Amino acid sequence: MTAGVADPAAAADDAVDGAALADARALLASCAAVDLHVDTFIPTRLFGYDPEVSHRYPFRHLVGHVDLPRAAAGGLSAALWSITTNPFRTAAGRRRTFAKNLTRLKAQTQAAAQAAWVTNARAFDEAIAARRHAVLPVVQGANCLGDARSFAEAGAADITSATLVHLTSSDIGETSTPLPWKRAWSPPGLSARGKALVEAMNAERVLVDLAHASPATFWDAVAVHDKQWPLLVTHTGLSGVYPHWRNIDDAQAKAIADTGGVVGVIYHPGFLAPPGARDGGLQLVLRHLAHVIDVVGEDCAALGSDWDGFISPPDELRDATTLPALVAAMLQRGWTAARVRKVVGENFVRCLRAVRPG
Ligand SMILES: [Zn+2]
Repeated sequence: MTAGVADPAAAADDAVDGAALADARALLASCAAVDLHVDTFIPTRLFGYDPEVSHRYPFRHLVGHVDLPRAAAGGLSAALWSITTNPFRTAAGRRRTFAKNLTRLKAQTQAAAQAAWVTNARAFDEAIAARRHAVLPVVQGANCLGDARSFAEAGAADITSATLVHLTSSDIGETSTPLPWKRAWSPPGLSARGKALVEAMNAERVLVDLAHASPATFWDAVAVHDKQWPLLVTHTGLSGVYPHWRNIDDAQAKAIADTGGVVGVIYHPGFLAPPGARDGGLQLVLRHLAHVIDVVGEDCAALGSDWDGFISPPDELRDATTLPALVAAMLQRGWTAARVRKVVGENFVRCLRAVRPG
């Protein structure tokens, strides 16, 4: 491994060099790297995107960042594959569509020689040992899950985590999205139904993901959530670096850390820096990860790219093959190999083992 640099701040501004890249690839080969949020199932549903085939695009793109060959090339061992809820369907339609999508994602994963369907830590370890990309099914927008009574029937045994809300408010709670009409859809915070859902998720050992939650929803969920299980914010920036409606503040990060949970940093520059300062490449991501570490410690930081979620990542993080560049930048910043391993995967796997040992 590259030795710690004398001036990490100065080195952080340097381009990633070849030696650090080689060290990063070696490190990734020795551990399981997990991305806490990919939306690769969206292009699959919308236009038949094939995750088994390696894709290459001549321009910067909003989707098409991840496929299984490029995940393998980048050392991305696992990801939380999101099934996103369309809020404009009826309640029954959302439940039906979710069941159909879960079946489809499972079939697609099981048919892929390079992938494995993973719903607990034992299956995760087996997938990593077999060098298969671990697909952990998760939900974005829990208003597809029905009420707390029907939650288990909805497929909770397979879902690793679920965000309570997404880009819109619902009968579960309020989104962080600054929609002028959102209060007409939901009062601030988590509804009684939302609170019952958090309790059901605790009972079914489904990790509660507070990405996209408004501050009021966030704190209501923290209050009702069983403290023995870790909380997640899978894809976010940090308001302590750049205040933005999509980001969480330091007190929220501390609430996550207090449960032994993790905060995954998103790769979308629009959430990470003000206009005019968004050309910072992967250093934008690193700055937010460093802030998590500074504020709540290295056991809480993780990667949550939002690849394939219609984001526009920095060119240096343009697809799943670029993970070694991000890891190399961590090493160049002087982070120890032990810290990097935690951030790229171990912190999340600790949460998975806690709720679902297998
Ligand atoms: Zn999202």
